[in-house]
Amino acid sequence: FLTIVYYLYDPRVKPFLGALAAAQLPFFFCLKITLSNAALSGKSSPVSSIILAFSAMTLILLHAILHMYWRKVYMDPLTAIPNRQAMDERLHTLSGRFALAMVDIDHFKKFNDTYGHAEGDNVLRMVAQQLQESLGDRVYRYGGEEFVILCPNTTIEGAKILAERICAAVAERGFPHAKRQPLGKVTVSIGVASFPANGATAEDILKAADQAVYQSKHGGRNRVTSTRDLKSGQ
Ligand code: GH3
Ligand code: MG
Ligand code: MG
Repeated sequence: FLTIVYYLYDPRVKPFLGALAAAQLPFFFCLKITLSNAALSGKSSPVSSIILAFSAMTLILLHAILHMYWRKVYMDPLTAIPNRQAMDERLHTLSGRFALAMVDIDHFKKFNDTYGHAEGDNVLRMVAQQLQESLGDRVYRYGGEEFVILCPNTTIEGAKILAERICAAVAERGFPHAKRQPLGKVTVSIGVASFPANGATAEDILKAADQAVYQSKHGGRNRVTSTRDLKSGQ
């Protein structure tokens, strides 16, 4: 029963279901003996109590190992938001209509060259934090200075409105320097694409969003382009 609860709580536990179930077996077996002994004689057997304690410790340890494993595999260590692997797996579980927005920081190379790589890292953290605060677990670090926002059951128009809000919020936000001097303005260019209009696979949709980002860059940066805009020649 606990294994099922664990699985419902986090389906990624699937490869470890056997180990989880095995760790719980001695726990419940000894719990049962301890409880029935206690009910019959008023005191529990020391052996089953020790096994009970060890089994509980094994469960806690297994949980800690799983948690560490999830963080290593699915979280980006710099920005502490889900990484591309997490995004790929989420994309493949989506069924039906969805839209996605690819967010690319403008002139980030120049930013690194001007303020240093460490300051660039800080800006990446702040942009990730801002995106996550507004959008929660729909944001992923795609790579480098690029993020992806996944919008399940959303039309391309809906995703574009959301992306425009994000684009304006990043441009308005002041990013403080570590030494508290204001940094140069940070802006993002965004491309929006949707399934199934832009292709049959997740890779097709990402590619279409990337083309839309390219158009946002070409149009002057700090803006949003959807694949629908590309078709209509805007
Ligand atoms: P554009 O407006 O066309 O997007 O220009 P750009 O300079 O942002 O794009 P470009 O692809 O030329 O450069 C991306 C830069 O992002 C280069 C790389 O040094 C920087 N970058 C990628 N990952 C990291 C990171 O983890 N930390 C820091 N500080 N910089 C990074
Ligand atoms: Mg880029
Ligand atoms: Mg860039």
